[in-house]
Amino acid sequence: MSKPLVIDCHGHYTTAPDELGDYREQQKKDVKADPLFEHVKGIINISNDQIRDSLEGAQLKLQRERGTDVAIFSPRASWMGHHIGNQSTSKYWTEHCNDLIYRITHLYPQNFIGAAQLPQSPLADMQASAKELERCVLELGFVGCNLSPDPSGGHWTAPRLDDPYWYPIYEKMCELNVPAMIHVSASCHHCFDTTGSHYLGADTTAFQHYMMAKTLFKDFPNLKLIIPHGGGAVPYHWGRFRGLADMMKLPNLNEIIKDHLYFDTCVYHQEGIDLLFEVVPTENILFASEMIGAVRGIDPQTGHYFDDTKRYIDNSKLSDEDKRKVFELNTRAVFPRLDKRLKEVGLL
Ligand SMILES: [Zn+2]
Repeated sequence: MSKPLVIDCHGHYTTAPDELGDYREQQKKDVKADPLFEHVKGIINISNDQIRDSLEGAQLKLQRERGTDVAIFSPRASWMGHHIGNQSTSKYWTEHCNDLIYRITHLYPQNFIGAAQLPQSPLADMQASAKELERCVLELGFVGCNLSPDPSGGHWTAPRLDDPYWYPIYEKMCELNVPAMIHVSASCHHCFDTTGSHYLGADTTAFQHYMMAKTLFKDFPNLKLIIPHGGGAVPYHWGRFRGLADMMKLPNLNEIIKDHLYFDTCVYHQEGIDLLFEVVPTENILFASEMIGAVRGIDPQTGHYFDDTKRYIDNSKLSDEDKRKVFELNTRAVFPRLDKRLKEVGLL
């Protein structure tokens, strides 16, 4: 069997040049003065050399060192900040963030494939998000998106994830044949810390919404959703969720998740990855590192980066066949547009 392709399905552009942050600061000033401020898109001057510099010593270097072939790459999640301003704030911010990802996918077509941020906003419906997803997939060649279950940034004001509120984006995803990663942004709630309790709590919450969804997967038989960060607390509490499903007379969890819910491998220790593989069907697990993301240091217990998740899978008890599923085949199945891109850049 040939060497599996190693596809990291969860990477963010966390090293963008300062000009991107400056644009955002100006937006924040504008909506502070007037919450209903109607923005214009404007221009952010970032050169190709600046983009290369921001990636060469960071994501690209780590990809090479770790043996990752290609990453599905999206804008920095903690900066999505859907709670800031109004619909026009999110619209133009998101377009700029996605445009930058598009430029990266052209500068490094073999290393990065795009996934979209969505211009969600707490008081808006999902129409603008559906429109931006269409632009990103059809015009920019993206293969997926990040959908926040909580655009209010920790206050959970949006309806549950199987509510018709979300249907316009699910419809567009199914029409375009792309999955979503269910990914919150920064917390603006004093009790939740962004990359710890807020991210993992949201992953866990999203899973339970989907587990209990009554007609969602009947309404959208092709809907595919990735719960990041190893599924939050879910795999560790698989017994609790199986028990809850049993009490609620729901189907077996493996049946519920089978064609719809997937977990990534952004779990930063061997024991956690081993548990994930033990309780969740291999077909529902996709390789990811979230590099460069929440945890950037070196584990003093191992001497390796916490987020070098490929090592944990290499060292796991999975058969070579199952490793290939996790590194490559599952991700190609969940992201149906990926094969075309991989062929175009000579990786398949
Ligand atoms: Zn992430």
